[in-house]
Amino acid sequence: YLSSSLQGSFRKTIDNWPQEEVDIIVVTDGSRILGLGDLGANGMGIPIGKLSLYVACAGIDPSRTLPVMLDVGTNNEELLSDKLYLGEQHRKPSGDEYYELVYEFMIAARDRWPNALIQFEDFTNDHAFSLLHKYRSRFLSFNDDLQGTGAVALAGLLAALRVTGKNIEAQRILFLGAGTAAVGSAEMMAAVMIENGLTPEQARQQFWLVDSKGLVTTSRGDTLAEHKIPYAREEGYLETLIEVVKQVKPTVMLGLSMQSGAFTEEVVKAMNREVERPIIFALSNPTSKAECTPEQVYQWTDGSGIYASGSPFAPVEYKGRTLKPCQGNNMYIFPGVGLGAILSGAQTVTDSMFFAAAKTLAAMVGEEELEVGSLYPSLKQIRDISAAIAAAVWETGWSEGNAKGQVPDNPIQYIQ
Ligand code: NAD
Repeated sequence: YLSSSLQGSFRKTIDNWPQEEVDIIVVTDGSRILGLGDLGANGMGIPIGKLSLYVACAGIDPSRTLPVMLDVGTNNEELLSDKLYLGEQHRKPSGDEYYELVYEFMIAARDRWPNALIQFEDFTNDHAFSLLHKYRSRFLSFNDDLQGTGAVALAGLLAALRVTGKNIEAQRILFLGAGTAAVGSAEMMAAVMIENGLTPEQARQQFWLVDSKGLVTTSRGDTLAEHKIPYAREEGYLETLIEVVKQVKPTVMLGLSMQSGAFTEEVVKAMNREVERPIIFALSNPTSKAECTPEQVYQWTDGSGIYASGSPFAPVEYKGRTLKPCQGNNMYIFPGVGLGAILSGAQTVTDSMFFAAAKTLAAMVGEEELEVGSLYPSLKQIRDISAAIAAAVWETGWSEGNAKGQVPDNPIQYIQ
């Protein structure tokens, strides 16, 4: 825990960590934990949990991981008045005061462990984008909510398109939610469309974002947060999701809104009326926040819907078939990306490393898995998946001149 009351002595505090070597640091300020909101210092379970996944999924030595809580305050009223709250009991600073605290941590961490990867996790979107842009080219760092989620959503979409046989650039993609995870996913998907020949302007025309106020448009009358502006539509404003679905006729709909049940029967059926095989991802976490369940999608679309969730759901029996929808969770991506980044001696973590990770993941889904509605490979293979992703990241880093270590002859075997 690096608390704001220790400002000025973060480096000294970090010296108290007993392990000499640290490879991976996951840091949060607890301000947007899953879909649960601002948990302040009580959000420490997230860095610990993510690092547990590094250990389980990518075989990272647990003693070489470091979970960090930037305990810089909370805006959660309940915690502010809770006598038993253990974190810094004041509001989070804003502006430069906030960024100075993060900067002091970044410098202190790198000073002690120059090669460690720093993963930003569960920061509110007003800080997530700016921290990534500040640090991505100067530190070995990435933002999992933006880039990890983006890559896992892209991988799921690429796998779903293997089922429908359609091209990504022909998709009309609607997001419910226009925050970190939604924009991160749209950016990854748009990048593939651009790689496939669309201009950046054409690619962005394939996306519609709906937030708490309705369709994100240029003429809506409110000041749009910076990350929404590239995706703001020129067309007329629509207030509700159902209106947007009827007008846009999306082929893909992703929920990253933390709104449990937002994909109603009416919405899903309206989508299915226009699209034979609607692709519907309810990615909000935890399970209680999912925009709809797999069972609902299969029932409302008469089995034609292609579904993934952010949190786990049990297999579904539908018309004599057992369908096994998968958890489109970034645990498929970040452990392999982190492993590849540290093994290759990468200077920075680039978007192309995340594309390589997404494509590797999508290619590992077997035909039998697609047949039962699984868009991600079995988690039983997670060590192999992470090794393959790490190899792809290493190869990408090397080809970009960003990795210090040359790719070994048989990278997957070497990594394993
Ligand atoms: P965020 O706070 O940055 O964004 C949330 C968005 O939801 C905002 O744009 C907000 O306007 C919108 N929203 C709120 N109420 C709404 C409503 N009633 N209708 C429409 N939109 C509404 O949060 P985030 O980091 O983007 O995370 C969003 C969700 O995605 C969380 O539940 C998180 O757990 C989940 N997530 C899942 C994964 C995964 O791997 N599956 C990864 C990252 C995030």
